[in-house]
Amino acid sequence: MLKVEHLTKKYGKVFANRDVSFELPDGSITVLLGPNGAGKSTVIKSVIGFLKYDGIITVNGLYNKSVEAKRLLGYVPELPSLYPNLTVGEHMEFIARAYRLSDYREYKQELLERFELTDKLKKFGDELSKGMQQKLSICCALLPRPQIILFDEPMVGLDPHAIKELKSLFIELREGGASLLVSTHMIDSVDMLWDRTIIMKDGEVKAEVAKTDLDQNGASLEDLFFTITEES
Ligand code: ADP
Repeated sequence: MLKVEHLTKKYGKVFANRDVSFELPDGSITVLLGPNGAGKSTVIKSVIGFLKYDGIITVNGLYNKSVEAKRLLGYVPELPSLYPNLTVGEHMEFIARAYRLSDYREYKQELLERFELTDKLKKFGDELSKGMQQKLSICCALLPRPQIILFDEPMVGLDPHAIKELKSLFIELREGGASLLVSTHMIDSVDMLWDRTIIMKDGEVKAEVAKTDLDQNGASLEDLFFTITEES
């Protein structure tokens, strides 16, 4: 379980996040929505441990910047950041060694097949197209089987096949007990998948809604998003 309590992050005088609190239950898909500049990436980068912030972030009760917590966290950044001098195969081996994985080869093969990278094993990071880099970035993040996975705009740049694979992976990961936080502005792309949504604006959480509650009211995620983000 991921717990974010009173997260506040300022850049100069700008509050990128202001008193943000939420929890990600195990076995759930939470969609993080908000217009550009709402503070979504800042939440994700704070959780993964890249930023200094005020507040408390814990993973299964562990401080998020501890090695034990990092072992449980996975992150797919908005812009893939690969090693230019490592091949596709070497990226996966590097992750396996960094995380000291022992029983990973079958899963590695499965991930590479799902994202159509098996014929690119010898290509270097900087020889890959943007979409292929994004696919490899997803494979690298998932290989250690993290319990909490943060996806920052994961669909951008992916082809339809990869989007389909990613969506079915989301469901499999949830069934396996993982909790996913998916930041996106492509509301349609997650419409059938999510369990909960957190809607941000101006650095603050404006709404946290369960899909079952929204369905009961007969409203769509898009309606909810515009109602909240277009309020003055
Ligand atoms: P989102 O991901 O929702 O588009 P961000 O978290 O990237 O929003 O940004 C939230 C706010 O923080 C914006 O006003 C943005 O300009 C500001 N911000 C983000 N990163 C930086 C930075 N490195 N330096 C200064 N301001 C930043």
